[in-house]
Amino acid sequence: MRLILFGPPGAGKGTQAKLLETELGVPQLSTGDIFRSAIKNQTPLGVKVKAIMDSGKLVGDDVVVALVAETIAKSQFANGYILDGFPRTVAQAEAFDALLAQRGEKVDAFIALEVPDEELISRLTNRGQGREDDTPDKIKVRLGVYKQETAPVLAYYKAKNQAKIIDGLGSVEDIQQRILDAVNN
Ligand code: AMP
Repeated sequence: MRLILFGPPGAGKGTQAKLLETELGVPQLSTGDIFRSAIKNQTPLGVKVKAIMDSGKLVGDDVVVALVAETIAKSQFANGYILDGFPRTVAQAEAFDALLAQRGEKVDAFIALEVPDEELISRLTNRGQGREDDTPDKIKVRLGVYKQETAPVLAYYKAKNQAKIIDGLGSVEDIQQRILDAVNN
């Protein structure tokens, strides 16, 4: 099962991806988590992406696509994964399609979580994970980047008839059920 969980920052992708790991039996693959861990461990990748990540802008497509290519080749992702935070640009979506085609694989489901801006801002402001990019000015940058660069990814999967849109408001359990229903239909 190769699932893409899509949505703006604060939509609940990370929370849902973690819960779905048990339900679907495949691991979460969060590009943001990989970058944060690289920064924490001061690896060459971490050093490269720190400033851009702290700014709320997007890491370059080449860097992200290379990271995803390397990661999905690992044995723990052989049976699939729940992608959270990738693809975030149309160029990444196209590169991912090419990568999957090379591997003789395909995306099984693309699920978009829909949440109004006011709710996103309130969730991100209250997230309290101490993330460098959860400050009011960075939240504004990230929502702007989402609208400009990431929202077109939804249109890309819609055009391929692969997108399923889910209401991202409600309890964590209700949203999880909606995702499972969408995956199974
Ligand atoms: P996230 O944890 O998904 O909110 O990602 C946090 C930050 O990591 C983003 O604001 C970007 O700077 C970077 N990042 C994560 N995934 C990607 C991606 N697919 N493309 C570009 N930048 C990314």
